[in-house]
Formats: sequence, C-alpha cells, structure tokens
Amino acid sequence: MKYNPMSLKAEEFISHEEILDTLAYADANKDNVALIDEIIEKAKLRKGLSHREASVLLACEIPEKVQELYDLAEQIKKDFYGNRIVMFAPLYLSNYCVNGCVYCPYHLKNKHIARKKLTQEEIKREVIALQDMGHKRLAIEAGEHPTMNPIEYILESINTIYSIKHKNGAIRRVNVNIAATTVENYRKLKEAGIGTYILFQETYHKESYEQLHPTGPKHDYAYHTEAMDRAMEGGIDDVGLGVLFGLELYRYEFAGLLMHAEHLEAVHGVGPHTISVPRLKRADDIDPDTFDNGIDDDTFAKICALIRVSVPYTGMIISTRESKAVREKVIRLGVSQISGASRTSVGGYCEPEPEDENSEQFDVSDKRTLDEVVRWLMEMGYIPSFCTACYRLGRTGDRFMSLLKAGQIQNCCHPNALMTLKEFLMDYASEETRAIGEKMIEAELQNIPKEEVRRLCADHLEKIGQGIRDFRF
Ligand code: SAM
Repeated sequence: MKYNPMSLKAEEFISHEEILDTLAYADANKDNVALIDEIIEKAKLRKGLSHREASVLLACEIPEKVQELYDLAEQIKKDFYGNRIVMFAPLYLSNYCVNGCVYCPYHLKNKHIARKKLTQEEIKREVIALQDMGHKRLAIEAGEHPTMNPIEYILESINTIYSIKHKNGAIRRVNVNIAATTVENYRKLKEAGIGTYILFQETYHKESYEQLHPTGPKHDYAYHTEAMDRAMEGGIDDVGLGVLFGLELYRYEFAGLLMHAEHLEAVHGVGPHTISVPRLKRADDIDPDTFDNGIDDDTFAKICALIRVSVPYTGMIISTRESKAVREKVIRLGVSQISGASRTSVGGYCEPEPEDENSEQFDVSDKRTLDEVVRWLMEMGYIPSFCTACYRLGRTGDRFMSLLKAGQIQNCCHPNALMTLKEFLMDYASEETRAIGEKMIEAELQNIPKEEVRRLCADHLEKIGQGIRDFRF
C-alpha cells in the first residue's frame, strides 16, 4: 500500500512497505557517520526528526554517537519540560472484556481471573483513597465489553469521579484509556470533560496485530489504528499513543509510532499529546517469556531518548510497570509524566485483594507509596507536579503546543508545579517529605523568569499554607 501520511486509511499512513524501506535504509546507514552527524545536528534544532531519520539513530550502535543522542535528549528534556514531573494514577473500573488479546489477562478465555466491575459507590471509595494519597489526575482503564462496560457506564463513572470532594482532595483531570470507539462516543467523552484519550496501538504490524488479537472487536486493525482520527473528529484534541514493547520487533514499532505522530500532525495540525512506553509484563495467565521480542533496559532507554528528540513537544509517560532503577534512568532522558502507588486490580486502592481473588492487569514493579515516589523525585532534583491547569483552562491540543513553542512554560507550568506540590506537602506528605519539599519550593521560586508571576506565585504559596487551595496560572 502506498505510503501517505495524509490518508485516513490505516494501511496508508502506517504503510508496511514504508516501514520495511525505513528499516533497510536505517541498516544501510547505521555506520554512516556523516549522515548520523547531520541527523543529530537537525535534532539540535529542536523541531523533531522524521521516522526515517530517527530510525537511523536507533540502528546506530557507535558508542560516541549514542552518547551524543543521550546528552541531547537530556538537554531537550530540560529545555522543554524543566525539572517537572507530572504525577498520575490509573484507576481500573472493570476487567470484563470480550476481546481475545493473547498478552492480556483480561482476555475472554481466562476463566481463573477474578472478574470485577466497580459500582458508583465503589468508585467513590476508590477515588477517596486516591485523593487521600494526594492524587489529582487519574487515567481510567476498562476492558472492552459492550454490555458490562458500555459508554454510559464510563460516562457515569467520570461524572462520579469529578464530583467527589473529600477533605481538600479533588480529581481535576480524568484521562481515559478505553477501547477504540465511535466518533459519537468520543464526542460524549469530550463532553464529559476528559483530559487525554489514551489508546495503545499494541503493535503497528498488521499481521502480528491480527494474530495477537484473534477474536473480539479489537481484532479489526484498521478500526483500532484509525481511532485517534475519530477521537479528534469527536473534538478530543489531546490524544495519547503507545505500543506494547515486547510484542513485535521494536524497530518496526518505533517507526510506526513516529509515523502515527506524523500522520496526526499532518491531518489534524497537532501531534500526540503523550506517548507511553509500556513493556510487556507477567500477569495472570500471561508469561512474557513466551513472547520473543522483549527489549533490554539499554534498548528501552535508547527508545525513550529517541522519542524525546524526535517529538520534543510530546509528553512521555512511564508507568509502574518499570522498576525504580529503570525509571530513574529514563526520567532523565525525557519522561515527563509518571504514575505512582498504582494498583492494577479492580478496586485495589481501598483494600488489598485476597490471594485467591486476583483481578490485576499486570505485575507492578515499582510498589512504593506516593509519598516515597514524591520524595525520591525531589531527592533527584525533580519537582513532582500535580498540575492540571492547562486542560482546565482550555489549553489543549494546539493551544497547549503554542504555549510550549512560545517558551512560556517556565512562567506557567513551573509556578503551577510549585503550587500543587505545596498542596501535596500540606495535605498528604510525611514530615520528612514536607521538609525536603518546602526547601525545594523556596529555591525553585527563584527560577520563575517573570517578576510579576514570581511575586504572585509567592503570594499564592502563602495562601496555600493558610489552607486555601486550587490556584493556577
Ligand atoms: N481495553 C482497552 C483497550 O483495548 O485499549 C483498555 C486498555 S488496557 C486496560 C491498558 C493497556 O494495558 C493495554 O492497552 C495494553 O497495552 C496493556 N497491557 C495489557 N496486558 C499487559 C501485560 N501483560 N503487561 C503490560 N501491559 C499490558
């Protein structure tokens, strides 16, 4: 199928032939130092790289060049995102699913996983537990099931989540990770006030995709791959991409991922808001070793660095699928958002599940509390941010991108990060975390460039100390 990034047909904007040509081109040029230098120079302009250029760097194994890539990723991350890391948690609503995804424990044929679906009352209890940890931003997750988890259930759940105000707590942004759906349903999600619509492609390789999703509505590669176009047509302008690394050859997936981003930019004028980089994990009924394409930590880090330099305006998300050590490594290279204290079981925040009632989607590697994650970030020099301001002020899609491109982040995201961190410290942190945080806020206040914003932020911080909440720029 002829490659055409402007096409709305999956097989044309993710052209298999174009990916194969790209991989051959990357192999032929992986030691071509002149070309590699040229690509690195282009990346330094901070306007991103094409899938072809980025694939050459991914294939290149010359140690000095890989080091140059890492240094550049680190610099771009600093320039675009400063030292802020946005925090979130997943909330599993239901693990009923009609699909047959062979890597996912929710697959229809798995008869020994405990099937659960939260009632609105149970959602309320989960949200209170999440608010009591300090979370302000959630990603809701659900299996695909037309009768158990219809769109009405998802919409009602979003409504419930936003309505709960426990003590000083509030969930201020709900991102949604549910199966590909219709333009009409995306419009309903938009109206319900969702933040990002997240859908992992799992794999861009059509033939593998069909084998990995042998049954159920998710089997339809084109319907799944074209979902983001429908979401945008439905008015959602923040969309989150991702592939599940381990299912197919990572170089194929990486080229596909960038082609998808190029397609969204070409057709809708705005690229993906975020890219997630999940790796396949052990789960009930799932042994990741039975999949041949697992990637080691170094390759994983290289992919993260390359995403950073290839799409500098796209946030990058890493979940608790990864260990503390891996997270430490890749946060530096470009990750802008992480989850903390996650439970991947349905109803897992309120009470731990009994041994014989496992409903988890996958094993979590990073099992620390949110307070521990926040402290750890600050000890490494990062500001944990609970900010949700952009979305609430309508700065989504290209409006968010213009803020980023105008270099106004430091006068906006930076003070917002400090103020939401202050809220966390006042309401939820341990004494030790609070002490580190207060010091950090005092020092970081000086890094707000505009004097007026700095003064206003200091004033707001004081008011937060007195019990007032929810200031934002
Ligand atoms: N049912 C929705 C869909 O079809 O996209 C919601 C997604 S599911 C709750 C969230 C994601 O978890 C999936 O898209 C998949 O990439 C990931 N996942 C599934 N099984 C996994 C496993 N064993 N290890 C790691 N991630 C997994």
